[in-house]
Amino acid sequence: MGEPANGSAERREELAANLAEVRKRIEAACASAGRDPDEVTLVAVTKTFPASDVRLLAELGVTDVAENRDQEARPKAEACADLPLRWHFVGQLQTNKARSVAAYADVVQSVDRLRLVRALSGAAVRAGRTLRCLIQVSLDEPRGGERAPAATGARGGADPAEVPALADAIAAADGLELDGVMAVAPLGGDPSVAFSRLAEIAADLRRDRPEAAVISAGMSGDLEEAVACGATHVRVGTALLGGRRAIVR
Ligand SMILES: *Cc1c(COP(=O)(O)O)cnc(C)c1O
Repeated sequence: MGEPANGSAERREELAANLAEVRKRIEAACASAGRDPDEVTLVAVTKTFPASDVRLLAELGVTDVAENRDQEARPKAEACADLPLRWHFVGQLQTNKARSVAAYADVVQSVDRLRLVRALSGAAVRAGRTLRCLIQVSLDEPRGGERAPAATGARGGADPAEVPALADAIAAADGLELDGVMAVAPLGGDPSVAFSRLAEIAADLRRDRPEAAVISAGMSGDLEEAVACGATHVRVGTALLGGRRAIVR
């Protein structure tokens, strides 16, 4: 991390160029879909990159950043507490991390089970904060009627059938607000099929809860498909910040 001062101007230029490119892609996707680019929020996924990059992105006009591991996110958010950023948590979240996440996150995009709703609610109340919540939906195809354990295990996400109960629980919970849904396209699948399915799930949810208008979908490789299917938030890491090195723990 600790970039030398002369590296920072170069990095700023690199991030500015990447950001311009990503914004162009979003604008083109919106134009194709007949949508207003203002309807799509770019969330920069800064995992594995230093707080100095978050600072540069904020200077360049990025308003929303996302992280997927509490251990990494917490010190980074603290180092950037002076910046007017919304922090999104997008990773698998253990209930014992809810208190820590509630201290800095504005949005938790990965709410996928009732136990987590209860833990986040308690943590938000204790912290005196309101957490906006997205229900993370698993779009992996169930196999033979049963969801394969591997499909739900690795990346998280509730079964689509569980969305109404989760929505009720979030809406009723102190300290939480239901904002909408989030999904990651299944590996190797057609992202358009997955994101269309997500759009249907979101539309069903909005019939009961019109306030749940957020659809967080699309990453560096499939943001165009997500925008075409109505995404209001795209989560972009690699295309903005560059390739991530594997984290050795
Ligand atoms: C890392 C990550 C992203 C960003 O992925 P890129 O392909 O690097 O753009 C988006 N969403 C989630 C949940 C992630 O963990």
